[in-house]
Amino acid sequence: MEVRRRIEVSGIVQGVGFRPYVYRLATARGLAGNICNTSAGVTIEVQGTAEQVADFVQRLPVEAPPLARITEVTEREVPCNGDRDFRIVHSQAGEAVRTLISPDVAICQDCLGELFDPVDRRYRYPFINCTNCGPRFTIVRDIPYDRPSTSMAVFPMCLACQAEYHDPLNRRFHAQPNACWDCGPSVEQRDRVGRKVECRDPIAEVARALSAGSIVAVKGLGGFHLAVDATNSAAVELLRERKRRVEKPFAVMVPDVEAADCICELNDAALKVLQSVQRPIVLLPKRLGSPVVEQVAPFNHFLGVFLPYTPLHYLIMREGKFPALVMTSGNLSEEPIAIDNSEALDRLHELADYFLIHNRDILLRCDDSVVRVTDGAARHLRRSRGFVPVPVFLKDEQPPILAVGGELKNTICLTKGKHAFLSQHIGDLENGEGYKFFVEAIEHLERILEIRPEVIAYDLHPDYFATRWALEQSGVQLVGVQHHHAHIASCMAENHLAERVIGFALDGTGYGTDGRVWGGEVLIANYIGFERAAHFEYIPMPGGAAAIREPWRMAVSYLFHHFGRDFLNLPIAFVRQLNAHKTDLLLRMVQQQINSPLTSSCGRLFDAVAALTGVRQQINYEAQAAVELEFAIEENGDDAYPLEITQTGEPWVIRARPMFESLIDDLRQGASSGTIARRFHNGLVDGFVSVAIALRQNSRLNRVCLSGGTFHNAYLARRLEAMLSTKGFEVFTHHEVPAGDGGLSLGQVLVASHRYRAGWHVGTPSGLAAG
Ligand SMILES: [Zn+2]
Ligand SMILES: [Zn+2]
Ligand SMILES: [Zn+2]
Repeated sequence: MEVRRRIEVSGIVQGVGFRPYVYRLATARGLAGNICNTSAGVTIEVQGTAEQVADFVQRLPVEAPPLARITEVTEREVPCNGDRDFRIVHSQAGEAVRTLISPDVAICQDCLGELFDPVDRRYRYPFINCTNCGPRFTIVRDIPYDRPSTSMAVFPMCLACQAEYHDPLNRRFHAQPNACWDCGPSVEQRDRVGRKVECRDPIAEVARALSAGSIVAVKGLGGFHLAVDATNSAAVELLRERKRRVEKPFAVMVPDVEAADCICELNDAALKVLQSVQRPIVLLPKRLGSPVVEQVAPFNHFLGVFLPYTPLHYLIMREGKFPALVMTSGNLSEEPIAIDNSEALDRLHELADYFLIHNRDILLRCDDSVVRVTDGAARHLRRSRGFVPVPVFLKDEQPPILAVGGELKNTICLTKGKHAFLSQHIGDLENGEGYKFFVEAIEHLERILEIRPEVIAYDLHPDYFATRWALEQSGVQLVGVQHHHAHIASCMAENHLAERVIGFALDGTGYGTDGRVWGGEVLIANYIGFERAAHFEYIPMPGGAAAIREPWRMAVSYLFHHFGRDFLNLPIAFVRQLNAHKTDLLLRMVQQQINSPLTSSCGRLFDAVAALTGVRQQINYEAQAAVELEFAIEENGDDAYPLEITQTGEPWVIRARPMFESLIDDLRQGASSGTIARRFHNGLVDGFVSVAIALRQNSRLNRVCLSGGTFHNAYLARRLEAMLSTKGFEVFTHHEVPAGDGGLSLGQVLVASHRYRAGWHVGTPSGLAAG
C-alpha cells in the first residue's frame, strides 16, 4: 500500500543545494514525487510505502545541507497518483521565487580540496564555489536569486560549467556564482597609481610583496582588506600611520587552526566558532611569545583572529606561508569599507602599495563579523558577513516596519512576517560616506526583501543622522523609540519574551526622555512602554563629546561632584598629575554649567575609574578605557566596592560616592590597578543585584534582560548573569544580535510594532508602561 505526503519546508532552503539533497534522499529510498521552490521555501511530495515515507520525513531536517536553515516543516496526506520517479519541478517563469537569501559563506572542504588538486580543472582558481559555499548576499542585485540578478550575470558559463549547473546530482546544481578558469572572473595586480602589473601569477607576486613588508589592498567578499605581514613591526607601524588609526586593534588572518593556536589561547568553543561557515573574527586571549607583533593590538590582551574564507585568501596564505596577516577593512579610519575597483584605487592609493583586484563586482559591502566567545557561546560584537541576511526569527507576525538604528555601529532592521532582517554593519553615520552607505543599505534591503514599510522607527536623539533621515520620510507612520527601551526590547525579542521584564540597559550614550544623556538605566519594560525604575546619578560631562575622548575629565567631574574642590588635596597620583590650568578650566565649566551635559552613563563611570586608576586618560577608539579596565582585572575574589541606592524618590538613584571613597583609600594604600578593577566590577554587580532584588519585591517580576554596549564586557556580563541566577532570577542575554548599538534596530522594530498596532503615534510620551 502506497502513501503520498506533501511536505512544506520554510526557511533558507533555496540556493543552498536543498533540491538536489531532497532528490538524492528520495531516490535513494525509491520514492516517487517531486520538489519545487515556492514563495515560502520548498514543497515536496513523496510517494512510497509508509515506512519509506516515514524514514524520508524523519531524515529530511537532520541531514540537510550545511547552509540550509529550516524554520518550519508541515506535512499532510494527499492522494496517490501515477508518479513512478522523483523530479525537480522548475518554478514557472513569472512565478518569482521569493524567499530568504543565504549569507556569504566560507569555501567548503570539497571546493578547498579541488582548489589544491593539480589535476582538477579548477586547480588554483580563485573563485571556485558550489551550492554549499561562496558569495551570495554581496553579489545579489535583485530577486529572485538567479544568475541574471547577480554580479555573475556578465560571465556566461562555459559548457562544462553549464553541465554542472543543470545536473541535479552535481554539487554545483544551480550554484549561481559557478565559474571556472575558462568562463569566470579573474584577478590582476595593480600598482598604487592603478597601473596593471604585468606578471604570470598576480597572487604569487602579491605574496612576495607582502613578505617584503608592503601593504596590499586585497578585494575580498564584502569589500577590500588592507593586508600586511603581522610579524613585521615596521610594516604594521606603516599601516597605522597611513590609515590614521592609533592603537585600535587590527584583526589577523591565520592559515589554519594550528597557526591560531600559536598566537592565541583556544578552547573547543572558540575552535568551533573560528571554523564555522560564517568565519567571523573571533576575539581570543593572546599567547605569550607569539610571532604577531605588539603593534597589531597594543595594550590589548585579546587578538581578533579569523581563518581564510575565500579561495583567494587560501591561495595568498599558502603562497606566502604567512603565520598571520593583518587583514583590516580597506578604508580610512571609521569610513565604510571600499568595494568597487575604481573607488578602491581612488580612496586607498595613499594607503596601499599594491592592489589585488578582480572583476566580479561586490554589489553590497559587508564587513567581517566580530564575536567574542563567553561560556561556550559566541556573542556578537559586530553581526555582518556570514550572518546577514539571515533573519532573527520572531515569536509573532509583524507589520512591515523599518527601524533605522542609532548613530554609531549602525544597523537597520526590516520586518516581514515573523522575520526581522538586520542589515550588515553600517558603521558610524557621522561621516558622509557612512551616511551614504546607510541610505543605500535601506534601499537595497527593501528591494531584495520586497518590503514597503508602513512604519519607520527611530531613536529620539534629534541630532542623529538616522533620526533626521527618518523624520524626512513621508507617507509612513513614524514612531520614536527611547534608546535604552530599544536595547531591552531587542533582548526581549531575540529571547521571544512578551511580558514585562526588569531590564538593565547599560552603555555609553543614549538620549533620555528628559533630554539628558542616559546610559546606566534600570527599566521595567514591555514592548509598548517602560518605566525608568533606577539610574546612575547625574554627573556633568565637561566638554560634552570631549569628555568621552578624555576619560580624565570624567574622573575630575566625579571627584568634584562628591568631594568638592577638596579632591585637589587627595594624595593620589591621578590628582598630582593633573594639569592645574586645564583642571581649573574644567571645574569652571562644570560650575557654570557650560557645555557640561548631565549624564547617568555607565560607560562614563568606567572612564572615570580607568582614569583614576591610571589605566587610561585619553582614548583612541570607542570604549577603549572600559575595555582596558576589564583587561586590568587581576585574580579572583568577591571583594567589592559599595554603591549607595537611594530609594526615596522615583526613579531610584544609584550613587557611586562610597565606591569612590573606598577606591581612593585603595589608591592611597598602593593597591594595584588589577585589584581596583576587580573591586569596581564586583561592586557594580553587587549593586545591580540589590536593585533587581528590590524591584522584584515591588513588581513581582522575576525575568531580567541584560542589554547595552557595557555587556560586551565579558567579566561584568558573566558575573552579573551568574549572581542574578543564584538569586533565583531568570536572566536573558543576547546571542543573535550585539548587546551594543548594533542590535538597537531590532528593539526599535518591536517597540514600534506594538505601538503602531495599539494605535499610538508620534509624540506619545514614552514614560508609560502599559500592562
Ligand atoms: Zn564548495
Ligand atoms: Zn566555466
Ligand atoms: Zn546604546
